[in-house]
Amino acid sequence: CDTLDKASSFITSHSSPFLLHNFVGGMYSAPHNSSASPSQHITSFEPKTGRPIYTLPCTQTDAVEEAIRAAKSAFPSWSKTTRAERSAILRRVSELLQENRELFAIWESIDQGKTLERARIEVDRAISNFSYFSTFILHEQTAARMVDGVALTYEHRSPAGVFALISPWNMPLYLLTWKIAPCLAFGCTAVAKPSEITSMTAFLLGGIFQRAGVPPGVINIIFGDGATTGAALVASPLINGVSFTGGTQTGIAIRRLTAHQIGKHLSLELGGKNPTLVFADSMEPSVRDRTIRVAAMAAFENQGEICLCGSRIYVEKSVYSDFVREFTAYVKQKYVLRETVGAVASLQHYDKIRKYLELAVEQKATFHLGSAPPALSENEAQGYWIEPTILTEVAKDSAIQIDEIFGPVVTITPFDSEQEAVQLANDSEYGLAAILLTTDGARMRRVGEQLEAGLVWVNCWLVRELGTPFGGMKNSGTGREGGEHSRDVFTVLRTLHLPA
Ligand code: NAD
Repeated sequence: CDTLDKASSFITSHSSPFLLHNFVGGMYSAPHNSSASPSQHITSFEPKTGRPIYTLPCTQTDAVEEAIRAAKSAFPSWSKTTRAERSAILRRVSELLQENRELFAIWESIDQGKTLERARIEVDRAISNFSYFSTFILHEQTAARMVDGVALTYEHRSPAGVFALISPWNMPLYLLTWKIAPCLAFGCTAVAKPSEITSMTAFLLGGIFQRAGVPPGVINIIFGDGATTGAALVASPLINGVSFTGGTQTGIAIRRLTAHQIGKHLSLELGGKNPTLVFADSMEPSVRDRTIRVAAMAAFENQGEICLCGSRIYVEKSVYSDFVREFTAYVKQKYVLRETVGAVASLQHYDKIRKYLELAVEQKATFHLGSAPPALSENEAQGYWIEPTILTEVAKDSAIQIDEIFGPVVTITPFDSEQEAVQLANDSEYGLAAILLTTDGARMRRVGEQLEAGLVWVNCWLVRELGTPFGGMKNSGTGREGGEHSRDVFTVLRTLHLPA
């Protein structure tokens, strides 16, 4: 039975949970450990209800190696296909995703907890990942130089080999395809592993690749946790590169696991605790609404489960109380549970966020929103629902201000001067993103260029063009992805010198 049809009928019938199968060598198959003990399977729960929805294998080392060998065998011929051939296949993938948009969006929403509307946005972005890289590779240019009439020098790139592509649970399809699309476009093959918390859309992707005619072994998708499946995958000497998105501690573990493999390409997109700076001029009547809207969107989109969310808001003292009042009123009206705010992704994550909220009570922070548990229906009572929460009076050295909570929780803190705003913004081990709200053109550059963040948004948030470099500073990661930066991840570069 076709995987996509099976998943569609599951949604309508809601029959008993099914077991996801690895997609290896162009086919779905249970890994060898499927008959093993239940501890080698993982159950996935629906965040909105807390009910089990499917089971996935925790792929063990032997089966991980089998998937890597499939990718290795497919590499010689895939890496020699023309760019036009690869482009046509990737375009077909994007078309098929478009045709199945609703199926993917519904599953993403069920599996991750996000609203259906948010899931649709992310499926659209996954479609763009394939369409963007399908055309990008058709327009690549090679740099060549004549050196004093003595030698012609040119740069030659070739696919870097077999990649491990590992993604987190917050934007499952979007982030995994952000890796798969360029990896395949630049001629590499891969073993991809989604988060064990949200594996469903990755499972469905196998069906898309089959229908699109991606040759067997070019992309393999395996399921499992980090400690067993992920670690075996990244550590394998047959893996030439790792493109990883996830938490900083996991990034450190991957660095350790691969430290002796110097030539292994590592692209690490890690955690963040991003600042939003609100200057007094951005609260002038003509731009006030935009300021509130951008700060709120940056804080609460996708329940705050976006690595780029601005969870530390700093506001110039003269407009501080106005901002707190208007921001709270806006969030209360706009970010409503079920309508625009989903459930958080897992019970473990829910418990983690609740601990920070308990700490806020203990430390006597002021709750402007989110002090009471949400009212839930019987169906939702076991779900992982957290109200958008706005806190003030949180000390600078509180774990609430320092740690990445990665949920619908923001702090608001006043500042006196521009210098202090920059210092507060940069006072973090992370350096992924920052949001700057001001109407002063000189300040946009002056402050923007001092912020220790790989991505700075001025009076906007999450605006992306897929060619722009994406990545963080400090403990938020290393390497950049997007357009030619993804090409650096997935290709090796040699310089040839030919006598003139
Ligand atoms: P995580 O690090 O726990 O897991 C991410 C992935 O890594 C999962 O697939 C997991 O199974 C795997 N993994 C875990 N241990 C591993 C190991 N030792 N070897 C190989 N793989 C391993 O992160 P998470 O909780 O799934 O996601 C949340 C984190 O992701 C947050 O910190 C968030 O900021 C970050 N994130 C970053 C970006 C970015 O672009 N910088 C984007 C989204 C999320």
